[in-house]
Amino acid sequence: MSQVKAKETEDHGSKNLPQEIVKLISQAQEAKKQAYCPYSNFRVGAALLTQDNRLFTGCNVENACYNLGVCAERNAMAKAVSEGYKEFKAIAIASDQTDRFISPCGGCRQFMREFGLNWDVYMSKPNGSCLKMTVEELLPLSFGPDDL
Ligand SMILES: [Zn+2]
Repeated sequence: MSQVKAKETEDHGSKNLPQEIVKLISQAQEAKKQAYCPYSNFRVGAALLTQDNRLFTGCNVENACYNLGVCAERNAMAKAVSEGYKEFKAIAIASDQTDRFISPCGGCRQFMREFGLNWDVYMSKPNGSCLKMTVEELLPLSFGPDDL
C-alpha cells in the first residue's frame, strides 16, 4: 500500500517542485559536503525548513565509538530546536546513492514524529529528483507526545 503511494509521489514529486523545495534539496546536497563519516564513507546531508521559513542544515557525524554517531536529519532538527524552532514544514535528505532515494532511519522517523505527523520529508537522489512522503506515512501508528 505505502509502496504504491510512494511511487505516485515519486512521479509527481520529481517534476513541478516548488522553488523552495528545489532550494531545500540543494541545501541538503550542500550540507552533505560537511559529512564526517570516515567509517562508513556514507555521506548524508539534511536541510530542514521551519514553518516561518528558517533553514537549518545538518550532516551525519560518526564516531570511533560507532553507536555515538548522529544522523544528518537529527543533527538538523537538534540545531533548529536549540535555536528555538520546533514547527517544521519540510526536511530534505541527500546522499550519494544514485540508484535509490535516501530514506531516514527508524530513529530519525521517531525524532521527526516528536514535532508533528503532517510535515513533508523529501528523500532525494544526487540529480535532485525526490520522493515525498509525510512523517505519518513514514511512521504509521506511531507513538508520540500525545500518548504520554
Ligand atoms: Zn537517522
